Amino acid sequence: MGITKLLIANRGEIALRIQRAARDLGIKTVQVHSEADTEMLAVKLADEAICIGPAPAAKSYLDIDAILKAARDSGADAIHPGYGFLSENAEFADAVVAAGLIFVGPSGDTIRMMGDKAAARASALAAGVPTVPGSEGIITDMAAAEALAGQIGFPVMIKAAAGGGGRGIRVAETAEEFRTLAPQASAEAKAAFGDGGIYIEKLIARARHVEVQIMGDGQDVVHFFDRECSLQRRRQKVWEEAPSAALDDTTREALCQSAVALAKSVNYLGAGTLEYLYDDATGAFYFIEMNTRIQVEHPVTEMITGHDLLAEMIRVAGGAPLSLRQSDIQRRGHAIEVRLNAEDPANNFMPFPGVVSGLRLPDGPGVRMDHMLYQGYAIPPFYDSLLGKLVVWADTREAALTRLGRALGELQVDGLPTTAPLFSALLGDAELRANHVHTKWLEPWLETHAHLIAQEKDKAA
Ligand code: ADP
Ligand code: ADP
Ligand code: MG
Repeated sequence: MGITKLLIANRGEIALRIQRAARDLGIKTVQVHSEADTEMLAVKLADEAICIGPAPAAKSYLDIDAILKAARDSGADAIHPGYGFLSENAEFADAVVAAGLIFVGPSGDTIRMMGDKAAARASALAAGVPTVPGSEGIITDMAAAEALAGQIGFPVMIKAAAGGGGRGIRVAETAEEFRTLAPQASAEAKAAFGDGGIYIEKLIARARHVEVQIMGDGQDVVHFFDRECSLQRRRQKVWEEAPSAALDDTTREALCQSAVALAKSVNYLGAGTLEYLYDDATGAFYFIEMNTRIQVEHPVTEMITGHDLLAEMIRVAGGAPLSLRQSDIQRRGHAIEVRLNAEDPANNFMPFPGVVSGLRLPDGPGVRMDHMLYQGYAIPPFYDSLLGKLVVWADTREAALTRLGRALGELQVDGLPTTAPLFSALLGDAELRANHVHTKWLEPWLETHAHLIAQEKDKAA
């Protein structure tokens, strides 16, 4: 087959990232956009740009018919969904294929099987991959679920099968809480994802979030090692590293092999990430979910392996076999990514769209920025607040931390607050530098270190 013209059904920094991979492969690009995004860098740089509707995502980036019409009108032969929006929507993947186009990702059936978190747990169990103790499939009988929660032991997590981005999750400490929270979680999931299915998992306290990047061509699957994403706020990642400094080589190998086994068991095609919780104290890891798309934090993996994950996912979508064997994928050094959001970290992370009135970007050895900024750009207020990611690489984690400090010192975004001062403040923390963190480490830290973040913000101003 092979792809000659790729339509990018996304916006912001990931739209640019996809565009660059396409251009590196000699593929033409069509950038769709909303009325609010006409000044977006990805629109300016694409070979063609097509407006598909008004600002609200439901009327543009989530409008399947409008996107397919743009593909027909432009003669695109493939669609890349990026992350978020329609990237894990099985109906969209099916509709793209039904229209005679290539979907850059797995089939609708694979998305249904792995994108539904309860179904993915069942696939993991079948492939012999350890999961968090919890319900088998979706909860249908509340009384039975409450009894099961008692058996597993409180606290338990109530999770939406269709959930993502940290939404649709509740923690129940007691049976009584469970009775009130379970119907709430179901209603919220129904409203947010159009699917009220929920399941339960034991809460693993003080766990780390580790994940494995894989790529499949429908026959073979390779892994690109692990990432650690334990620094989270509201269950959303804010800082990611590759590899996880918490894993020894034996555990890393077992973790990566379990991810390959699970992906192979579903003949996976495309880029995917298997997320796990890792318990330092026992050395145990538990599969929690699979993201059947490219992830925000993929650059840290590219930095330690030297491979272009976007290019490879476009190649395999076009029908090519994997260009890499497992032995071709080696890792070197350590990479760290921090998420630059248009939010004020000194003011409860209030979103703060505005006009970029001045801009100085970090550069030099081991520094990469995937971003959507340019001087004079007015950030539209309608979408996710991610402006870009600052990524650094060095031989060791310690050197990468030092380099991150250097790069943050060079970075200057005028006109709106960003999360950069948070990262400058974090770099001074001894626990973080020693990697003594877990998924609930950052939130209390933010409470007790608000003064440091405010100080860093003043220093940068
Ligand atoms: P990653 O590990 O790549 O950061 P996230 O789960 O944080 O993955 O999601 C990446 C982006 O996609 C975020 O902007 C998030 O808000 C969005 N997102 C994830 N899942 C959904 C979903 N089901 N519906 C809408 N947006 C989603
Ligand atoms: P999402 O689809 O929203 O990304 P995940 O299932 O990946 O949801 O969980 C998001 C985050 O919630 C994890 O990174 C972790 O911090 C926390 N979490 C999820 N499941 C558990 C669990 N069983 N115990 C403790 N924390 C959990
Ligand atoms: Mg997740």
